[in-house]
Amino acid sequence: MPLDRLTLKRRFRRLLGSSVEFDLAPYMARLARIDRLATEVAATDDAGLTAWARRLKTRVGEGASLDLVLDELFALVREVSERVLGTRPFDEQIVGGLAMNQGKIAEMQTGEGKTLAAVAPVALNALAGRGTHVLTFNDYLARRDAAWMGPVYRMVGLTVGHVQEGMPPAERKAAYGCDVTYVTAREAGFDLLRDGLCLSPAGLVHRPFRFALVDEADSILIDEARIPLVIAGHVDESGIGLRQVAAVARQLTPETDFTSDEHRRNVFLTDRGVARVEHVLDRGGLYDPENLHLLIALQNALHAECLLDRDVDYIVRGGKVELVDDFTGRVADKRRWPDGLQAAIECKEGLEIQREGQILGSITVQHFLRNYPRLCGMTATAQPAAEEFKELYGLDVVVIPTHTPCLRRDDEDVIFATRAAKRRALVTEIAQVQRTGRPILVGTASVVESEQLAAALQEAGVACRILNAKHDEAEAEVVAEAGSLGAVTISTNMAGRGTDIKLGGRDGRGRGAVAERGGLYVIGTNRHQSLRVDQQLRGRSGRQGDPGSSRFFVSVEDPIIARYGIRRLLAVPGLSTSDEPTTNPVLRREIRRAQRIIEGENLDIRRRLRDYSQVVETQRQWTQAWRHEILRAEPPLALLAERSPARYAEAHAVAGDDILRRVEQRVTLLALDRQWSNHLAQMRWKRDRLPLIGLAGNDPLAEFFREAGDEFDRLPSRVEDQAVGTFEQIEVTADGVDWEQEGLLGPSSTWTYLVNDDQFLGNNVLRDLSHRPGAAAWAVIALGPLLFLWGLRERWIRHRKRAARDTP
Ligand code: ADP
Ligand code: MG
Repeated sequence: MPLDRLTLKRRFRRLLGSSVEFDLAPYMARLARIDRLATEVAATDDAGLTAWARRLKTRVGEGASLDLVLDELFALVREVSERVLGTRPFDEQIVGGLAMNQGKIAEMQTGEGKTLAAVAPVALNALAGRGTHVLTFNDYLARRDAAWMGPVYRMVGLTVGHVQEGMPPAERKAAYGCDVTYVTAREAGFDLLRDGLCLSPAGLVHRPFRFALVDEADSILIDEARIPLVIAGHVDESGIGLRQVAAVARQLTPETDFTSDEHRRNVFLTDRGVARVEHVLDRGGLYDPENLHLLIALQNALHAECLLDRDVDYIVRGGKVELVDDFTGRVADKRRWPDGLQAAIECKEGLEIQREGQILGSITVQHFLRNYPRLCGMTATAQPAAEEFKELYGLDVVVIPTHTPCLRRDDEDVIFATRAAKRRALVTEIAQVQRTGRPILVGTASVVESEQLAAALQEAGVACRILNAKHDEAEAEVVAEAGSLGAVTISTNMAGRGTDIKLGGRDGRGRGAVAERGGLYVIGTNRHQSLRVDQQLRGRSGRQGDPGSSRFFVSVEDPIIARYGIRRLLAVPGLSTSDEPTTNPVLRREIRRAQRIIEGENLDIRRRLRDYSQVVETQRQWTQAWRHEILRAEPPLALLAERSPARYAEAHAVAGDDILRRVEQRVTLLALDRQWSNHLAQMRWKRDRLPLIGLAGNDPLAEFFREAGDEFDRLPSRVEDQAVGTFEQIEVTADGVDWEQEGLLGPSSTWTYLVNDDQFLGNNVLRDLSHRPGAAAWAVIALGPLLFLWGLRERWIRHRKRAARDTP
């Protein structure tokens, strides 16, 4: 881009108060200082370079600031990369590294070498000796990048580790003990949750968080950000099994015993239904606090029974319920419905219940990432998300130019009236281009669409590879070959992210022939909900100055377009039946507008989710701080001596100070974990029943905050009561307590997963009404009073139930 246009654009952005930087001057000055060290560094032998780096580490250990040693370390890393990897980082990569070290999101195009660009800032921060994390897009990339960049780190005297799903705790601890750890955000987050249940300091795997560099930052910091990570466990809750609850739910009659709202978002028990359940179960009032788990289980059973349909909302495969993520269009990896709902569906389908347990801890990816005092990242598509990076994380975006100008041609969308016409055109286009030998990568919206297209191609005699494996590494291998002569590769949008597509295949042997034919041709078969994802797909082509082009084929029947009624704009006579594409510019504009509306809606949903989860997150942090104090037993708790003096004196005489302190520590930790888990269940229960939007005087968020606060205020006394109660029941001998005998080993097993939180906040309610462009706003206005009334109705029903129970 010519410099004058660049400054104009920059000025314009400044005017708008944007958080995108185009001005690289400060970084260029720093680069010059790094360059000045190049000759001296080049003249030093390998051992000398390592010794040099160690001296820097010592200086930092003695109090020198990282900034003071930055130039030298960057120069060292540059030289070492050249020696051990054979790739000398380009200036753009150094500048990207400098920006990230400043806590920015560096926008660097696909194939620009972000993996290598990350090494210098990470190594610099690792000099402080307190651990740095590189958060990768998936496990495969954590493994690949740690192995790939490992030699560079090691030569500058730093240790490198990586974490994989399913690794035993000791290996994880060792990996986090390294100077640099490659790990996915979700694994690091799960480890934080596991640490939150540790019963002794030695079991902790994490060190305090210091610095994280996030690869594919938009995907992790934004798309994945709202997904809650969950740890659940078996807790021996002597109670009624899920199957029994499911059987009760099946006995209930629709309309008389329960009703569902018109958007099929929730089911509600009627008074009759409540009475009936209470009668059958004979456990007292369903709304009594001690029966919360029953109420939740029943609600889930009804939800599974009435609101979720097999093959629409989920599929059953290999004896398991699998959930499809509508963002990536694939069966969602490790994703489940909230706690009991998943088990309720398994129950409904007559499958083995995979796990019947209780949520013990939970954190959203976003809150988890905010634990890092220093956070930065890199991605090819940062600008479209700049506003969100700023708002959610306070991060600015710096745009780094490509090393060689990008030659890719992004063609205008071809628009068809029907999906069938689009499909036919796609097959013709792919068949035609494939005959020339030019490789084609087709990005589809879903696995189903991939399969249908592949079948249509096969019928037309076009051989293609279809990518729907859930295995990251296998996927990466196929994607890596997508640039080979004559290859046709069909995949969903996000597949193989992070894998480089070289022209002429992985070894690049057919490069010349492919380049002559125009390079990689990327075809998108749908506009995605987010422009960012479309840009990622385009970016697969034209890497490092390669030739290439991209084009989207859309139809007015595509979901995102159909939703906004753009079809009505098709005033062209006869078009609705024609196979010919339209070139109507208004249509193109409207499609982009629909995309913007959806992006706006999604942003709103993320904001609202953040607001709701913030209060529980604050409570989590507070509880964890308290837990840590207990775990380190500093200061001594003195709870039992105070609350149960006689029993304490008795036990003290038998067991002595030391043992008793450990007993006290353990019963308190277990009580805290149990009460926190109950509190989480309460919070979810309350949250899921709040209306989406409130009007004046009934702000659901404020109400939620108030109720959450009230509930949380009771937590400490509940913990203490339970700890004292446990202590009074257990037998303390000179050897301490037989924890197994007493049933106090903690959760017998735990597991982790991601929650599908989508039905919460009824984003479907907004969606369903958004038939016209601009309708989202109207939906909000029109829905407000409805939901307000609905909220009142809910509260009134609750109130009546309570009143009914209280009158004998
Ligand atoms: P990105 O993550 O930005 O898409 P990668 O880190 O996967 O890109 O790197 C893409 C390719 O570019 C790799 O094959 C890598 O070896 C190569 N590469 C990176 N930096 C350089 C460099 N300075 N000189 C030559 N090749 C490089
Ligand atoms: Mg990458």
